[in-house]
Amino acid sequence: SELPADSNLENFTRQVENACYSLATPIKTKNPNLLHVNTEVAKQLGFSDEDLKSKEFTKLVTGNTVYPNTEPYAMCYGGHQFGNWAGQLGDGRAINLFQVKTDKSYTLQLKGAGKTPYSRTADGLAVLRSSIREYLCAEAMFNLGVPTTRSLSLSLSGDEVLRDVLYNGNPAYEPGAIVARVSESFIRFGSFQIFASRNDKTTLAALMNYTIRHHFPNLEENSKEDYIKLFQEIVNATVTMIVHWQRVGFVHGVMNTDNLSVLGLTIDYGPYGWLDNYDPDWTPNTTDSQNRRYRYGQQPNIGLWNLYQLANTFYTLTEDAKPLEEALNSYKTQFEEQNLAMMCAKIGIETPNKQDYILIQSLETNLKLIETDMTIFFRLLATADKIEDCLDAFYTPEQLKGETLTEWQVWFDQYFTRLASENISKEERIAKMNTTNPKYVLRNYMSQLAIEAAEEGDYSLINELYNLVQKPYDEQPKNEKWFAKRPDWAKKKVGCSM
Ligand code: AMP
Ligand code: MG
Ligand code: MG
Repeated sequence: SELPADSNLENFTRQVENACYSLATPIKTKNPNLLHVNTEVAKQLGFSDEDLKSKEFTKLVTGNTVYPNTEPYAMCYGGHQFGNWAGQLGDGRAINLFQVKTDKSYTLQLKGAGKTPYSRTADGLAVLRSSIREYLCAEAMFNLGVPTTRSLSLSLSGDEVLRDVLYNGNPAYEPGAIVARVSESFIRFGSFQIFASRNDKTTLAALMNYTIRHHFPNLEENSKEDYIKLFQEIVNATVTMIVHWQRVGFVHGVMNTDNLSVLGLTIDYGPYGWLDNYDPDWTPNTTDSQNRRYRYGQQPNIGLWNLYQLANTFYTLTEDAKPLEEALNSYKTQFEEQNLAMMCAKIGIETPNKQDYILIQSLETNLKLIETDMTIFFRLLATADKIEDCLDAFYTPEQLKGETLTEWQVWFDQYFTRLASENISKEERIAKMNTTNPKYVLRNYMSQLAIEAAEEGDYSLINELYNLVQKPYDEQPKNEKWFAKRPDWAKKKVGCSM
């Protein structure tokens, strides 16, 4: 068929049938400029300090150099977006460069390096603000102990990118950027779904076998039984990931099935956000402000909803609904158990029992009485003897009176009674709580400050926040200013996706 004038043979936009990926070449950029590199990840991949200082490295992580004997590619996938099947999506602005084998095998992927066959009507590019957000957040999550893809580098492309943010009514050009990110796998729920939707069992089986071969070597390829075990593994990994999200107050914002990794890694940091005040109904995604499908308190249910869609895909190969249903049911029991253990750990209870559920529920009710900062509350709780010791967690501390105060006093009484039955010293409990409850998270306003400075050419805050999130559970006296409630000006600010 006829090629559009601006496309080469590899990258022209199309439906891709019977294939899990398409070769795609990153575009050359005007003036690549490395803003930040994650030296830990770079070392892990085998780059030396010398390498990182070289022009070649910058060219590599901006797609301006393609290593000989490598074949960059974009992956084909579909997905349910906001509850509806959306057909073929695919890596519209992500290109996998190559894999590196060290302790494990890691894929290096560029985000924002130009169009691919999956770009549809979009430009294949990324802007600086969304790239800063992705770069920093993946590292924040990793250091919090949340399964995630990782960041290798953040660069300016040197090109201007047109986005629909209007200044004085005019379309705005923004600095283009490229994040190099690293993962054991970028395979998504939607990577499997696309083939079931086309009734292409051959390619579906090929991808399942590939997944087993590379990521679940304990399982057998071409076995219906082991496909079901694979599904169970995905269920387990998804539960674990979402319990971590709930623990740290992370809201993904776009839990479409194309944004859920089959390894249970947090992937695609778009309009994500962090809870400041504890509010289960909060979502950072402005395009979802009506239904709030992907709000904080809904994430566990959406994880299950997405797994139901994936179960339908598995069914096309296994043709046996029962074991898939069992796996789905195990999601609920696993979630309840792990979530209770996690919430108990947050309040310093080591040996959860069924009654603790009630204590946790009344805590969650209390956290909503007046605006209460989630991160600060749990951090202060470790050493608190009474609710007044958590005063700094309240956005309107003057409202801690009357019934609100009484409710909290009642809860603290119950809490200390419960703690008394635990076999652990106060010092030990405090230390443990402080490895569960982070002191520093990447609040939305913090990224916003880094973005605003960067857009003025000052990249120092990117580095400062990058360093801050390396040790989120540690006391960092020099960084005490980041252990603070969201400032008033930031209340209405939310994340941006594009
Ligand atoms: P997301 O919801 O951001 O994960 O994106 C959904 C789909 O849109 C994926 O297939 C992306 O690759 C694609 N996409 C998002 N932004 C762009 C862009 N600027 N250019 C091309 N494709 C994009
Ligand atoms: Mg995505
Ligand atoms: Mg670290």
